[in-house]
Formats: sequence, C-alpha cells, structure tokens
Amino acid sequence: MSVNTVFPNAISIKELKTDIIRAYADKNIDLSDSIWATSICSDEVNNLFPEFSHLFAGPGPFTMGGISGLPFTGITGLKAFLSHMPDNGAAMIIYGPHIGYSSDEEVGFMNRQNQSAKSASCGSLHAALGALKADATPDENSLDYQQSQVFNMLNSHKEDILAADDQLKKATEVAYESINTTMHQIVDAVRKDLSGIRLYLIGGIIINTDWQDDDYFQVHHQEFYEF
Ligand SMILES: [Zn+2]
Repeated sequence: MSVNTVFPNAISIKELKTDIIRAYADKNIDLSDSIWATSICSDEVNNLFPEFSHLFAGPGPFTMGGISGLPFTGITGLKAFLSHMPDNGAAMIIYGPHIGYSSDEEVGFMNRQNQSAKSASCGSLHAALGALKADATPDENSLDYQQSQVFNMLNSHKEDILAADDQLKKATEVAYESINTTMHQIVDAVRKDLSGIRLYLIGGIIINTDWQDDDYFQVHHQEFYEF
C-alpha cells in the first residue's frame, strides 16, 4: 500500500514547502521577514526541514516540542519565540506527532541508517501505549517528566485507543488532537498580552519512511492569526 492509502492526502516535505511559500505570497508577507518554530518530537528522524532555514530569517527553528511533539515550552516559550519576530514580520509554527511507515508497509516502524532492524517511530507513543496496555497508573517521575505527560495524554483516551484496529495509529491521532488543542490554548493565552503579531499555524502528522526515502506530512490544520 502506498503512503497515501494509509495516510490520505499526505504530501512530501517539498510540497509542504511549496504550500508555505504560496500561503505567504497570498498574504503578501516576505518569508525573510518571518521566523519559524516547531512542536514536533525530539527524535532526530524529524530533522526534515533543513531547506526551511534558507526561507526564513535565521537561524531557526525555535523548538517548542519535546518527546511526542507536545508543546512543552508552553506560554513562556511562545512569548519568547514571538518576541524574536522581525520588525513588521510574521511567525510560523509547524506542529504534530510522527509515525513510521516502513517500505514493507508496517505502521509505526521505519528503518534508520545503518540499523539492520526496523525501529519504532514514535518511540515515546509506542512506550506510552505499552504502559496503557499494561494498565499502568499515571506517574509523575521528575526524571521522566515529558513521558509521564505523554502517558497521561493517552490514558485519558484509553478505551478508544485500545478498541482501535491499529492502536498505535489511533494513539498518534489522539496525540495530534491533544497537541493541536494545547497549541491553540497557548496561542489564546498569549494573544491577550501581545499585539502586532501575524502567526501562521500548520498542524499535522509527520510520516517517517525508511531513511533513504522521502518523508511526508499529512496536513490537518492551517490557520492564519493576526492579533
Ligand atoms: Zn517520537
């Protein structure tokens, strides 16, 4: 099955770049007067956007996410990021979880360079799902703070996830909804204190293929804020 069969409307990272350039042109904003941030999982497999650094004011991106892609930097992080906006400029945030799709069509796994076996993606969501299936209870271990938050996020949708045909794919969709909701809550919290901001949000799910193949982004949400 192709990537698009499993993840309808997923586009290549190059197509995503073209869409961003078009969106900025439609708004008459010069990309070089804009900065960008991500809220995606820390996994190095998600370093997919090196070309974007040449589009935007440098060096970018501001990193809002931690493991799973939840925007762990919160209100303080977003305020800091927006304070770095060029004069009369704009800002963009790409956010969402990630999921593997290997060349032998296994969802949740992909092959990394120089590894003989396939590897989990997203490892954080795999681990949280495993804890869910083991009936683990919420744990606030300060040495594993982010993962405890990821577990809590999935645990509040436990029945839906465990009833799904593909539990990891469902957990990824739940993670997307949670990241999207949290991102909007953070934007709403800062907009009352700031003005003169133009902010472009792009939310979706990153699909990691085997290391030698191009990766994809399934766009779920695009919104342009002015406040
Ligand atoms: Zn991950």
